[in-house]
Amino acid sequence: MSLLAILLTLQLPQPARAETPAFCPAPASAVFAPTALPSLNIFLGDYNISASAGCLDFAMAASAKGDTTLPLTVKELIDKGRACLKKNGLTTPLHALNRALNPDHSGTSGKTIKLACARKEGELLPVNDGEITATDIACSVGDPTQPEFPAIAVNMEWAGKFRKPSFQAAFFHELFHVAGYGHDVGVDYAYLAADCCFEKIDAANACAMMKNAEGKGQDYWTSKEYLAPYMKWQGWGRWGIAKLLLDNAAKAKPNDQLGVHAGTIALLKVWGGHLTPKWKAQLLAECLPAAKHSGTAKTAELEKECNDLR
Ligand SMILES: [Zn+2]
Repeated sequence: MSLLAILLTLQLPQPARAETPAFCPAPASAVFAPTALPSLNIFLGDYNISASAGCLDFAMAASAKGDTTLPLTVKELIDKGRACLKKNGLTTPLHALNRALNPDHSGTSGKTIKLACARKEGELLPVNDGEITATDIACSVGDPTQPEFPAIAVNMEWAGKFRKPSFQAAFFHELFHVAGYGHDVGVDYAYLAADCCFEKIDAANACAMMKNAEGKGQDYWTSKEYLAPYMKWQGWGRWGIAKLLLDNAAKAKPNDQLGVHAGTIALLKVWGGHLTPKWKAQLLAECLPAAKHSGTAKTAELEKECNDLR
């Protein structure tokens, strides 16, 4: 299920942040005929990315208008993002990115990341050994089992409407999916790195959350230390993602849900007033079992925290 579909299913209010990068959907809903586009190694030598000729067309049309928010700015955004991660001492996301972008590394199974550009929402794009439908400002295929992997599609119809940092943030976000990171399990480097390096709202918190994750164990993402601040931060209209992460943390550690409890409380405390009644009720219902399975002796205290939010 795409992130957009999850958001719709949960009937959440409009996201506060305009751009919602996503995984590219299956091509079934495509409404435009595919065009065979030759591949050109635009970023030859520097990065493990090759762009389709369609991207060049857009770049040329855009530069004629003095517009720079186009795929040719990819190099600029990668350099900016890398410098930002380095400056903040964030070696885990920096190394992940470098692995994906290094043409000699197996980070992307030795395959080149294909950059495809769509003229319109829903356009079908041939990439690697498959086809994807361009949607959102940018989307990606980060699952190595898919024939399209590794790929990023930019929807120029949307991309041109966003200010440059938003476009760069969206593209940087997708690079982390290609590097192997999702939103529902693990530290959410796609959103955190993009916001830390390209957004102004809550950027410092995004950087700090990644910094705190440095050197921690594999299951740090299920901890109270990660989930409580993450839920407060991710509450900016990305509640569907926040909920998925809580559900998976509960499954990953059924007998130690202290982190899930803390995350649920944080989400309810900060964003409870913005949630639909149905979803708020669901979170409240899951708060008590999380308190019971917290693995601490403070169950009654934790349950009280849940009940106080009713
Ligand atoms: Zn994403």
